[in-house]
Amino acid sequence: EGEKLNAKLGKSREMYNEARKHLCNGVASSYQLRDPWPIYVDHGSGSKLWDVDGNEYYDFHNGYGAMVQGHGNPEIGKAIAERFPKGTHFALPDEDDFVVADELTQRFGLPKWRFTNSGSEATMDAIRIARAYTHRDHIMKIFGSYHGHHDAVMISIVGDYENIGDKNHLKKIPYGAGIPKSLIPLTVPVPFNDADALEARIREMETDDEAPACLIMEACLMNMSIVPPEPGYLEKVREITKRHGIVLIFDEVKTGLTIGPGGATKLFGVTPDMVTMAKAISGGLPMGAIGGTDEVMSVVESGEVYQVGTYSGNPLCVAAARANLEKVLTPEAYKLFDHLNNRLMEGCTEVIKKYDFPGYSIGFGAKGCVTFSPHKIIDYVTFKQGQRTDLNQLCWLYAANRGVFMTPGREEEWTLSVAHDDAACDAYINAFAEMAHDVTAE
Ligand code: PMP
Repeated sequence: EGEKLNAKLGKSREMYNEARKHLCNGVASSYQLRDPWPIYVDHGSGSKLWDVDGNEYYDFHNGYGAMVQGHGNPEIGKAIAERFPKGTHFALPDEDDFVVADELTQRFGLPKWRFTNSGSEATMDAIRIARAYTHRDHIMKIFGSYHGHHDAVMISIVGDYENIGDKNHLKKIPYGAGIPKSLIPLTVPVPFNDADALEARIREMETDDEAPACLIMEACLMNMSIVPPEPGYLEKVREITKRHGIVLIFDEVKTGLTIGPGGATKLFGVTPDMVTMAKAISGGLPMGAIGGTDEVMSVVESGEVYQVGTYSGNPLCVAAARANLEKVLTPEAYKLFDHLNNRLMEGCTEVIKKYDFPGYSIGFGAKGCVTFSPHKIIDYVTFKQGQRTDLNQLCWLYAANRGVFMTPGREEEWTLSVAHDDAACDAYINAFAEMAHDVTAE
């Protein structure tokens, strides 16, 4: 399947040879790499994208989950077209800013907002705000989770580690070079879905005079397949963090606006002190957001914390975000996501049963995946146990060769858009079925 795909990617290969002369690896970000060369895109429209070789794909990757509006959405296009002649950047506030903030407050129940340019900036600033609010330096995160590419959170994300320690003392493992040794001890990883381990670790940190400022977490993990919270877990996390004076941050960069209109916060009914958002918020333009309670965000309003950025609240991005929230991500959009996601999950489950495949399908709202695990995944350890990475890779190749584009990793593999339809879902299911058939026939 790999050779078959590469044979269709001749122009991409030519571009790669040209691009790598002056662009590291021929790409703008290492997220865009593919072995043996990247696929260069020509254009997208609705639920589809076309590469430079003219290959057509249903896009289930959707720009790592940002394009829930579909490519070239007319409402987003109109908002950008109307904004452009009036000027694209001033570093001054405009009406769209507070309209978007109001809308986010209604959806997430948090009263105060600031905007950033990306998810990484949102989590970086949220952590600083939590540190300032609590006057503490240490932070906690879930082992395996990804929260962006800044130093504080590039610790103990998904990787191939020999030894991660035991659940009460998970190791602090920097991901990649360049993270200062002095910063590593400040980030303390704990297992997902284990409130007892969380509280035990907090107690120990308090005894060592290292009480944490915040716990940053996805309420539903989105990078180790999709892992929802076990019943009662988030409620316990909320109670424990409150009791110990720790700021609870739900990182909704992936979940916000995709798994439901009010993200994981509303879906699971537990309100954190802060949320961070990006991706699906702004119709494919770069933007992030931080929401918080009046108390926590008071350190921003007082000027104690410097929360800034030349392009933060960029008029084009915020105009797109406003159109996205008001006109695209309507209640009907979420009904459509539910319909399509159920069709996909049911179709994939049928294939799994028919071919007696190890794994299951899981999803919420616009997001879902098939995970090739023989058992239910509840945390990093269960995610790593018995994962069939060979099947993941094969699944991606089968899909790409049949005009279906997925995310490459072992994370959530599909994001739906309002432009997707039953035919797109069936193409996905059929590609998966062909792979299951061929693998089991061998
Ligand atoms: N938080 C989470 C949960 C993410 O999934 C990501 C990106 N995949 C980020 C933060 C960082 O966002 P960005 O890539 O926009 O910096």
